[in-house]
Amino acid sequence: METVRFDELDLYPQVLRAIKEMGFEEATPIQSRAIPAVMSGADVIGQAQTGTGKTASFGIPALHKVDVNSKKTQIIILSPTRELAIQVADEIRKLAKYMHGIKVLPVYGGQDITRQIKALKGGAQIIIGTPGRVMDHLRRRTIRCDAVNTVILDEADEMLNMGFREDIETILEYIPQEDRQTVLFSATMPKPILEITKKYQHDAITIKVVKKELTVPSIEQYYYDVKRKDKTEVLTRLLDYYNPKLSLVFCNTKKMVDELTDALKGRGYLAEGLHGDMKQVQRDRVMKAFRTGRVEILIATDVAARGIDVDDVEAVFNYDIPQDDEYYVHRIGRTGRAGRTGRAFTFVKGKEVYKLKDIMRYCKTKVLAMPIPSSDDVAQIKAEKVMEGIAAIIENENLRDMIDIIERQVNEADYTAMDIAAAFLKQALGQVNLANEEDDGDGSIDWDATGAEEGMVRLFVNVGKKDRLKPSNILGMIAGESKIPGKVVGAIDMYDKYTFVEVPREYGRTVLEAMKNAKIKGRAVSVEPANQK
Ligand code: ADP
Ligand code: MG
Repeated sequence: METVRFDELDLYPQVLRAIKEMGFEEATPIQSRAIPAVMSGADVIGQAQTGTGKTASFGIPALHKVDVNSKKTQIIILSPTRELAIQVADEIRKLAKYMHGIKVLPVYGGQDITRQIKALKGGAQIIIGTPGRVMDHLRRRTIRCDAVNTVILDEADEMLNMGFREDIETILEYIPQEDRQTVLFSATMPKPILEITKKYQHDAITIKVVKKELTVPSIEQYYYDVKRKDKTEVLTRLLDYYNPKLSLVFCNTKKMVDELTDALKGRGYLAEGLHGDMKQVQRDRVMKAFRTGRVEILIATDVAARGIDVDDVEAVFNYDIPQDDEYYVHRIGRTGRAGRTGRAFTFVKGKEVYKLKDIMRYCKTKVLAMPIPSSDDVAQIKAEKVMEGIAAIIENENLRDMIDIIERQVNEADYTAMDIAAAFLKQALGQVNLANEEDDGDGSIDWDATGAEEGMVRLFVNVGKKDRLKPSNILGMIAGESKIPGKVVGAIDMYDKYTFVEVPREYGRTVLEAMKNAKIKGRAVSVEPANQK
């Protein structure tokens, strides 16, 4: 399908300027066709995948329709969640940056209504809201609809999934239909949506960006043949190997999301889960953390991740192969956005590879088989990363005092500077090279028998609540003595006289060694591998 340049679309120069500043090169296929259609004033049904720029498809025409000389509400946009309402409001505000006198206001459940009412009193021509809250304001007459001439349903399928059908219909009944433009955008068009369009739209123009345009050219796609029980291990290797800034991991069930989130957190990754059972506030909190990079790995179900728009996702993992071909496109479309490069990794086992073949046919794309990186590969790449960091330190820092200390070590302890550097490197790589480290030295310890969760070992510590200790004391002691990051320490079960602590397997020996002479509140402490629960 032909796409057009924005300057071919008859837009206000202020809007063109904003678009340019946002870095959009040209209109996406849905935008190319939907913008003129919506600007013509007709009712429009727009269907295109997630991430294809539907927001601007109605946001740009909305800006051209607003009468800036009136502060009355003129355009109401309905959006399924608070998160999405805010996103849409932000995008429209960006587009309106150089237009004066336009106010865009999101309203959603969960936010204090009196505060919203205050904001509404200030007047906003464009309101974006979740259906329940918009209906509430219409009833209270805190949103007046006498000047509303446009209603836009964004992510309509998602709104129906969330049970908003009745609210939407109530709103559409409430707002005067005479001369009203009604626009609907959705990634999919299930029957109930078509029913709504029949009932509330007139001579609607349907614009559908069809399947074969769902190409994803800038994304490298790989698959790995992985046994179920090895998936977590392989995932962490790939995370370590490629070291993506932000990653999205897709699972097919909420349960798997929870399990995997726990497993990754237990191994010290900055991971959080996202699924439909979570309260909106929790979801908001997780999304915010992901957006700002405090969470680097977001583990989600397809439904929970729908519509989420974060730009810097560098890798998408299909931990479970998607159940639906279309989901595959939805999922991997989360990376490689706006011309950035991205990678997509899919785990398959046995017959699932046929499913993947279907996906390749459907998406007209190639997914290449890849060998799982060995722990040596991971160590290698990590070492390179560490050395890059070291080079920067050498370039930029004053190392005099450090050099003095090393020099003393070389003189007094009979080590070469090379020995010391190598030891530091080994320490920095602490987490890797598990396989090799494990069979030299602690052969007598059967870590598997300590009853810990996968990838972890369980340690018995001979102090507990009776010693007036808290889990945080144990955590502090272990992290402090053995110099492992506190965040990798797993579950701490504290009893009266003893405590069980889980640490990643690769640290098991380090912790045991370090704790040999440890004291807590002046008391000698003994730490041993636990016996099976
Ligand atoms: P959808 O609603 O179809 O899922 P969005 O409207 O949320 O998609 O857009 C997805 C991302 O693409 C956003 O970050 C948006 O700013 C960006 N985007 C939109 N239009 C363009 C364009 N023409 N060129 C580049 N990026 C765009
Ligand atoms: Mg959208």
